[in-house]
Amino acid sequence: MKKLKIAIDGPAGSGKSTVAKRVAEALNYIYVDTGAMYRAVTLAALRKGVSMDDGEGLTELSAGIQLEFRPAEEGKGYRLYMDGEDVHEEIRSLEVTNNVSFVAAVAGVRRNLVRLQQSLTSGGGVVMEGRDIGTVVMPDAEVKVFLTASVAARTRRRLLELQAKGIMVNEEELQASIIRRDAIDSGREVDPLRPAPDSFELDTTELNIDQVVERILALALAKGARLDQ
Ligand code: C5P
Repeated sequence: MKKLKIAIDGPAGSGKSTVAKRVAEALNYIYVDTGAMYRAVTLAALRKGVSMDDGEGLTELSAGIQLEFRPAEEGKGYRLYMDGEDVHEEIRSLEVTNNVSFVAAVAGVRRNLVRLQQSLTSGGGVVMEGRDIGTVVMPDAEVKVFLTASVAARTRRRLLELQAKGIMVNEEELQASIIRRDAIDSGREVDPLRPAPDSFELDTTELNIDQVVERILALALAKGARLDQ
């Protein structure tokens, strides 16, 4: 059976994580959240007091920490461990979210994390989500999807996600932070957020999760993947 590489890129709140997890489950592939890795380096920097504009310090930090996805105890999905510590929740804090784009713009950090990400893709059978997966990490992926959605829809989704976790935030501030993060991610010199020329672009503003998952699965099946029976 053919084991594909599936790349899912897009801006914050475009639905990448939820959709990528579901596609991986349906095909029984591994799921890799590359944003979690950039978040972990950011958490390490905040804890150690490394400044967000200290490119050398951040690069060194990213080379020195050990990152590993381990299956969640509940049996569903994976959790990210940094130097043996479960940081799954802490990397989603607002402080990490507001700083991660600065860390992700550092060429040395990207070099180290891209190498690690590529080591997880050998043999295929992987759904990887991020910003540069179709362009840089897996340019050879058989299926490349670029998800978009209006800023209002993306803000609304993030708001609901945070509320479900009991975190209350101001909608306007949230929208401003999403716009800011998009601008840094798309405007940076190294590996900016942009669709690969051979990617399938999907605007999810008016679509629900099932519809997006169905479309991506259809692309994967057309390339020879099989649903996990
Ligand atoms: O996907 P998530 O929102 O968790 O990503 C957090 C941040 O990590 C992004 O805003 C971006 O700055 C960075 N990132 C990246 N390249 C990736 C994945 C994430 O630059 N492949």
